[in-house]
Amino acid sequence: MGATILELRGVSAHYGRIQSLRQVSLRVDEGEIVSIIGANGAGKSTTLMTICGIVRASEGDILYQGASIRDVASDRLPGMGLCQVPEGRRIFPRLSVSENLEMGAFFRRDAGGVKQDMNLAFRLFPVLYERRTQKGGTLSGGEQQMLAIARALMSRPKMLLLDEPSLGLSPLFSQHIFKIIKDINEQQGTTILLVEQNANIALSLADRGYVLETGRVVMEDKAAALRANPEIKKAYLGG
Ligand code: ATP
Repeated sequence: MGATILELRGVSAHYGRIQSLRQVSLRVDEGEIVSIIGANGAGKSTTLMTICGIVRASEGDILYQGASIRDVASDRLPGMGLCQVPEGRRIFPRLSVSENLEMGAFFRRDAGGVKQDMNLAFRLFPVLYERRTQKGGTLSGGEQQMLAIARALMSRPKMLLLDEPSLGLSPLFSQHIFKIIKDINEQQGTTILLVEQNANIALSLADRGYVLETGRVVMEDKAAALRANPEIKKAYLGG
């Protein structure tokens, strides 16, 4: 694995007076897949939103490639290679599949490269090619999830933040999405920070994992070690 690409140092976050993150520290190294697992309301989504600057850290610092991004506007991060795929997908429903993909590359000036990446996205997700002229809003839930990931790839990210990519998908479809996430990591070298309810899948995919409970990191380890840990098995892996 490479150098550390993302680091949270003692990050806290609040929604009004409610504290949702309590001094969270974690790191992701270049080329890794790191998973954050935890129960509903543990603060997994808030962690990603705080990294992206959608929620502002009330304490601590967030370093990306060695520099603080704590006060960087969220819309500048894709241009720096840090791209989020939010929970709930949020594609552009009235634009076609191809137009959605073009929007993912809106700040790029290399038309040739954009075309190449569009072809790559269609290779990874053949169903999006078949539906390239169809409006995003008419795709199935699983197809919209694919489109959201493919659109993020159009910015040529160094690092992808994925929030619950399997949400609302059938087990078979989830497996397909996770295989593609692994392929993106292995073939493009994209670093991935993954937030996932399904701890089994999240840890089988990841190099390392963090366990969040009520806004705190309570455990961190290699993913294989977490999967073998009796406490984790009991609490998160269905015994
Ligand atoms: P889930 O798996 O259910 O999505 P999560 O681990 O991603 O859960 P978060 O969504 O980060 O958890 O929520 C962390 C805490 O912050 C929860 O207690 C939640 O109720 C609270 N919270 C989240 N969003 C808001 C908001 N917009 N306003 C107030 N409280 C919020």
